[in-house]
Amino acid sequence: MKPKTLAVRAGAGVDPRTGALAPPICLSTTFEHAPDYSKIYEGGYGYARDSNPNADALERALAALDGGAAALSFASGMAAGAALLQSLPRGSRVLFHRDLFYEFRRMARRLFPAWGLEAATIDMSDLDAVRSAVSEGVALLWCETPSNPRLETLDISALAEIARAGDAHLLVDGTFTTPALQRPLSLGADYVLHSATKYLGGHSDAVAGALVFAESGDVAERVKTIRTMTGGIIAPFNAWLISRGLKSLHCRLAQQCESAARLAAALEGHEALETVHYPGLSSHPTHDLAARQMRAFGGMASIEVRGGAEAALAVAGRVRLFLNATSLGGAESLVEHRASVEGPDTQAPAGLLRLSIGLEDPGDLIDDLSEALGVSR
Ligand SMILES: *Cc1c(COP(=O)(O)O)cnc(C)c1O
Repeated sequence: MKPKTLAVRAGAGVDPRTGALAPPICLSTTFEHAPDYSKIYEGGYGYARDSNPNADALERALAALDGGAAALSFASGMAAGAALLQSLPRGSRVLFHRDLFYEFRRMARRLFPAWGLEAATIDMSDLDAVRSAVSEGVALLWCETPSNPRLETLDISALAEIARAGDAHLLVDGTFTTPALQRPLSLGADYVLHSATKYLGGHSDAVAGALVFAESGDVAERVKTIRTMTGGIIAPFNAWLISRGLKSLHCRLAQQCESAARLAAALEGHEALETVHYPGLSSHPTHDLAARQMRAFGGMASIEVRGGAEAALAVAGRVRLFLNATSLGGAESLVEHRASVEGPDTQAPAGLLRLSIGLEDPGDLIDDLSEALGVSR
């Protein structure tokens, strides 16, 4: 089946008991077993912190969409990432790309010491530097492509090759792309992380996360044990909401990609802006790589306003349609001054506004930002 078909059909399917097309939400925390603890029902469920039918259906769909052998769903993207990190042996080194989702940067600083993990940060577009870092002993390479918030693209195949040669694994955070735009496992990555809170759910109404594994086996088993023991599993209702979101993923993203491309083209060269970061622009430094690696260029863009933080915040204060809010991937277009959100240790440029393009008419979005930028184009 092709990806669009999988997105609609790879989940729960028609309920075998009732014929319902929309799957039932199974809220039960516990499942009957025989007095000798053997299973007497199909599904093999016992306690909902281990697994539950709605989580299972979501995991089947995500594994199919990303082309993985296994998937695990979590209460959030952070819980998914933390479970994988906690599965690493003490003393492991994790190599992050320098443009990294800021909560993982904070996790590395605040929690890695207690977990016995070491973090290093590097520019992963410099493959020689990655090769030399990996030769010094790295357990896990971790990157987002396009990255957050600069939308830099990284070469997944090349990074996967370096990881493999150095006995390391590669995780790609696929939150910005989803399997609709990019399938890192098919390019050699070992794990894909999703904040399902964003595009997979798509409606800003459920916090959720997932890991998809290229191989089932030890790592996936260990991560599942950690999920059971720390209670990180997704709740049935959220699994149901994300599964529902998946069905419209491709058409939502198609519109969001088209609108983002139009907006980026309309704003490029605007006199109030230093830069428009969007991998779909031919002027983008890694446009060719993005074109090779992605099916389309995504619904995220960043603009750098001339005049730094004050000017950027003024623009964010003048928009009327874009909403000032964090997160991304929903129906409403959002604007966010990343430096303000990330706080004192931010690495985001002072004038940078990150845009999550929603499902409104692109013409309205372009008019809104053009007016907020305040100078004629
Ligand atoms: C939001 C986000 C996360 C964290 O996911 P939550 O669901 O908020 O825990 C991780 N990576 C990226 C790129 C994100 O945007």
